[in-house]
Amino acid sequence: MLKARAVDGPDQSFREAEIERRELDKKDILIEIKFAGICHSDLHTAHGDWGEVDYPLVPGHEIAGIVTDVGEGVTKYKVGDRVGVGCMVDSCGECENCKAGEEQYCLKGNVPTYAGVDKYGEPTQGGYSTHIVVVEDFVLGIPDSIPLDKAAPLLCAGITTFSPLNHWDAGPGKKVAVVGMGGLGHMAVKIAHAMGADVTVLSQTLNKKEDGLAFGASSYYATSDEETFEKLAGTFDLIINTVSAKLDMNAYLSLLTLNGTLVNVGAPAEPLDINLFSLIPHRRSFAGSMIGGIRETQEMLDFCAEHDIAPSIEVISADEIDEAYKRVMDSDVKYRFVIDISTM
Ligand SMILES: [Zn+2]
Ligand SMILES: [Zn+2]
Repeated sequence: MLKARAVDGPDQSFREAEIERRELDKKDILIEIKFAGICHSDLHTAHGDWGEVDYPLVPGHEIAGIVTDVGEGVTKYKVGDRVGVGCMVDSCGECENCKAGEEQYCLKGNVPTYAGVDKYGEPTQGGYSTHIVVVEDFVLGIPDSIPLDKAAPLLCAGITTFSPLNHWDAGPGKKVAVVGMGGLGHMAVKIAHAMGADVTVLSQTLNKKEDGLAFGASSYYATSDEETFEKLAGTFDLIINTVSAKLDMNAYLSLLTLNGTLVNVGAPAEPLDINLFSLIPHRRSFAGSMIGGIRETQEMLDFCAEHDIAPSIEVISADEIDEAYKRVMDSDVKYRFVIDISTM
């Protein structure tokens, strides 16, 4: 049995728990988890916001650790390697999307790291635990220059923002706006800047302006100020919306230039009102994007190492998860909580 932290229901606090991981299959890797990030999805899932989940639930899909054992057929990693696991731990491997390296869009559905069911029919449990067993194809290599605590949030917040920036060609000559400066937003700013794009932050207030500029933004505007939308009309090639609250999408679409795209990586529970005349006159696109494939996630990790970028984090102990959840809900974190699993 392995130590973990679990919740037993939507309104419950975290408690000490014991879980089991499967015996290593041929292609399996046993990872001793060192750090696990706290993602907004963890809160939504634990609270049952996204539909019914089976409890007890062990969240966590920003996992960084060390390989401690490998199955006999494993070729990609060896004992002692620094590795990570993100939002998915398996997929069918045979559909068109899996074959294209877009396992997150597996046509049969990928196997989420927690609150899912694996190919053995067992519920998956996430990274708020001391160990995890994952098939080697879903394990990422963490470059030596990235400390494990800072590597953890890259496995969700990093790839969730890297993938759309990469897909829609953020780079030199491109104007990119990042909506929201939380866990996802602050990574979007750092990555887009490292890609060479000109980055603007659109945040409710100017409270985090100094940080935003330090992360690489060239300008920072408050969306509570109506003049912002007049001033920036028709400006951006790409807008990455990281906010999961319901925003006035037509106002944000008006900030796109000809052929510009607004990509959503956060989602409010209720549908949005989009006026198609926000799109048609400037051939604008309204899009969504979900994490990234395994190959692209490795690219992202290597890119972050090469450009010396990493998330800004607050490391907490396992006993502080409930308090951290409250602070995440209040947007009171700079900019990602990471659990030190050695405190478990
Ligand atoms: Zn996440
Ligand atoms: Zn598939």
